[in-house]
Amino acid sequence: MSHLFYLSTAQRPVLDRAEGIYMWDRTGRRFIDGSSGAMVSNIGHSNPAVLAAMRAQMERATFGYRLHFETEPGEQLAAKVASLSPEGMEKVFFVSGGSEAVESAVKLARQWAVVSGQASRWKVISRFPCYHGSTLGALALTGYDPLTDPFRPMMVAMPKIPAPRAWLDGLNPDDPATGAHYAAMLEAQILAEGPETVLAFIQEPVGGASIGALVPPAGYMAAVRAICDKYGILLIHDEVMSGGGRVGRFLGGDLWGVVPDIVAISKGFGAGYAPLGAMVAQSRIVDAVQAAGGFLHGHTYAGNPLACAAGLAVLEEIERGGLMGNAARAGAVLKARLAALMQRYGFIGDVRGEGMLLAFEIVSNRKTREPLPPGLKAFDDLVERAYAEGLIIYSRRSRGGYAGDHFLVCPPMITTEAQVDEIMEKLDRALDGFAAAHAG
Ligand code: PLP
Repeated sequence: MSHLFYLSTAQRPVLDRAEGIYMWDRTGRRFIDGSSGAMVSNIGHSNPAVLAAMRAQMERATFGYRLHFETEPGEQLAAKVASLSPEGMEKVFFVSGGSEAVESAVKLARQWAVVSGQASRWKVISRFPCYHGSTLGALALTGYDPLTDPFRPMMVAMPKIPAPRAWLDGLNPDDPATGAHYAAMLEAQILAEGPETVLAFIQEPVGGASIGALVPPAGYMAAVRAICDKYGILLIHDEVMSGGGRVGRFLGGDLWGVVPDIVAISKGFGAGYAPLGAMVAQSRIVDAVQAAGGFLHGHTYAGNPLACAAGLAVLEEIERGGLMGNAARAGAVLKARLAALMQRYGFIGDVRGEGMLLAFEIVSNRKTREPLPPGLKAFDDLVERAYAEGLIIYSRRSRGGYAGDHFLVCPPMITTEAQVDEIMEKLDRALDGFAAAHAG
């Protein structure tokens, strides 16, 4: 009997070791980490330079409490993050994970409003569906009923607007009118709430697991920025999944040249070497809060030198190996190969994403974009078939409301084109079996 418990009840083999894009269980069975865990292991497993940097830091100090010491890795990593972030985003606050990064962003925004005489602003508008984390604050922003409903009224559900799912809504994502259509929903929601009550709008620039690598339609990102500016509302980018280089740029927002006020990063930032995340903010916001007495927030393990040394080494490896470029190039090849599957499998409705943050969506009818019937086990079936082939892909099923039945194919940024072939062979076999089992 295992004494561990999680959301999933599936029994999985015990991990023995991992290297590059591969993982082995205790029996010696090999898997391709086709989803980088949960879009975490951006530079692959057991990178020697990162392990060496961690070892060296371990010999010096593994922990120094932030109220007692600054640390060299912390200072260096903050400087590196600021140098990779858009101009003006110079202040970095470390945390140990994605939910903590989102909570920090919301609390900084609120404190900024209070110290700048705008205490009436407290609502944070988000999109539906979306996922911003599992702690009660981050959950208040999350738009995914099965995860949120049991926790009402402990969490105050924040206002939601529809995510810009152009494909699902039958709109052309390349038409700027489509971007304007979804952005107008943000403005309408702000007006309905009362602009003086709205603190921030939070979005994932390239959507994560809840929405399957959704790429916003043309014109959307710039329009959202302009609307936030018009009403004095802060724009928060949740780049917990899309940040850190996976989309081919350090931040997803960089793909559209849109600069948020605050950004949350994690997952690929620590890349599986250490629990690490960060909130990066515009200096003007942090300076105002610091001048009024300081940010009233923090977590014990945040910014510990071991995690920061790992994070710094990860970013150095990304630079040394030109891995953002590789994520863009190999990601484009992988995306084209996924798109080609649509000719063979009529149940693949859409293929989307940027860089190595890619997904395909399964429907019962591509033309009408009709979802799979509720309760159909086909969803688990495809994941299990891929798993049996030794390929790990990440999935989100539509439990309750339709959130899309999509599968994320997001291998590490080091993946070569030959390894893309290997992934596609396994996925193809899994899809063949799936198609045969569910024909008709
Ligand atoms: N935000 C986004 C976009 C995520 O994808 C996740 C995790 O999947 C989170 C926040 C929460 O991160 P964590 O699980 O590290 O708390």
